[in-house]
Amino acid sequence: MRHYNSSVSAVRIVLLGPPGAGKGSLALLCEQRLGLAHLSTGEIFRQEIARRSVLGRRVQRYVAAGRLVPDALVVQVMASRLGAMKVRRGFVLDGFPRTQGQAAGLDQVLDRKRKPIDGAVYVTSPEALLVRRLCGRRVCSRCGANYHLRTMRPKHAGVCDHCGGSLMTRKDDQPATIRKRLALDHRTAKPLLTYYKNTGRLSTVDGRGHIETVFQRTLTLFRHRGWIDGRHDRTQVHARN
Ligand code: AMP
Repeated sequence: MRHYNSSVSAVRIVLLGPPGAGKGSLALLCEQRLGLAHLSTGEIFRQEIARRSVLGRRVQRYVAAGRLVPDALVVQVMASRLGAMKVRRGFVLDGFPRTQGQAAGLDQVLDRKRKPIDGAVYVTSPEALLVRRLCGRRVCSRCGANYHLRTMRPKHAGVCDHCGGSLMTRKDDQPATIRKRLALDHRTAKPLLTYYKNTGRLSTVDGRGHIETVFQRTLTLFRHRGWIDGRHDRTQVHARN
């Protein structure tokens, strides 16, 4: 079994969990409150599709149908984004890896830099809650922030609190595609979780309740693991040995 004791000052975490578990909102809070950089494959793909770039055109049909983009392409995109990203205090990845193959590919990329993933945090939620969240989800078309029609409304209807962008329903948040995405996640999650469990890096967070509650649970876990210290303001993510 490999052991992952990072000796550098930044923490590197992957957020795992089914669609609707709250990974995107959690990642955003990690960025805002802990100063961690944040990359989301889903967001990268949606932006590239909107730009009609070469990558956008390659991934469009997979995203629209709620199918997974092939591993080799996803790992290549993330290797390049991670290489270009400014990481001071660390990063959280949201929506990547989604398969065991992607997790192994990510390890290879980061092992070459001697900057391995410290931990995988699996955010759990019952399926009925996932469906409710996905059906009511609205997303900012400009910055990607998530809202919910009932539980996380913006201050002004249809307008993003953070950047003023307009809110929209994701094309893949339609009931038929939601069911397909959840079923796909069922099939791919187990080997992925086993992969991180077998390398001693898997933790679980209960994703039920308000996002702030889930974030506080996540902070407790981060502290417990020694990834951040006790005071959870932006200045307190610290070097670990
Ligand atoms: P998400 O925003 O994470 O729900 O992702 C939206 C869609 O982007 C997914 O349904 C997939 O089509 C695609 N996607 C996002 N991340 C990945 C990934 N790691 N591997 C393959 N496809 C992905």
